[in-house]
Amino acid sequence: MNNGLRVTVWNEGRHEQQDAAVRKLYPDGLTKPIAVHLGKQPGVASVRQAALDDPDQGLSDGVLAETDVLIWWAHIAHDEVADDRVDAIHARILEGMGIVVLHSGHFSKIFKRLMGTSCDLKWREMGEKERIWVVDAAHPIAAGVPECIELPHTEMYGEPFGIPQPDQLVFVSWFQGGEVFRSGCCWHRGLGKVFYFRPGHETYPIYYNEQVLHVIANGVHWAAPSGGPAHQQGNTEAWEPLPPPA
Ligand code: ZN
Repeated sequence: MNNGLRVTVWNEGRHEQQDAAVRKLYPDGLTKPIAVHLGKQPGVASVRQAALDDPDQGLSDGVLAETDVLIWWAHIAHDEVADDRVDAIHARILEGMGIVVLHSGHFSKIFKRLMGTSCDLKWREMGEKERIWVVDAAHPIAAGVPECIELPHTEMYGEPFGIPQPDQLVFVSWFQGGEVFRSGCCWHRGLGKVFYFRPGHETYPIYYNEQVLHVIANGVHWAAPSGGPAHQQGNTEAWEPLPPPA
């Protein structure tokens, strides 16, 4: 259906402005390593980087129309995303655009709209160890992933995660402090696919981890539009002859 995926990597971009430690860790922005990695993937035709401070918040109708999969990183400025942009993203997802929501994007307007639930969770910032276990090795997002990905220092996210039951659960995280978390979740919304992937706190070098980047790339391919038929709905002619109405 296409000559390669058009990916837009959207970054709120505020921690980099406000925190020198984050700037040092990610001098070109938190999501730059993701964009660079995706740019090298077979089947990816283009990678656009967009940010909250761009014109139209980096989310114009034109950008969305040219996006097959949107990657979403945000944390401290969810409320600044304009409601009409959230409406536009939501409409594109129902039409078939994929979205990969990362880490603190669990509280973004678009993720909450897609889920319809609180999207709340437990958290703790102690730099503890996380093991991200594959619980569905047959899922395409698990392709080429080891049985678990170990991150030596992370922020903890713990259950209960206020989401609807995922259509497919690919990863469950264990944390050194004892909690667990559904860290790789898939849903279908209209013709669009949603992948939530937990890793990515701004003060740890998690988006330089090759295994994390590999999962994000797998998520992009999974969430890509299928090329299936557009929905035809409403009043409709019969496909086969019918007797006259009784
Ligand atoms: Zn965080």
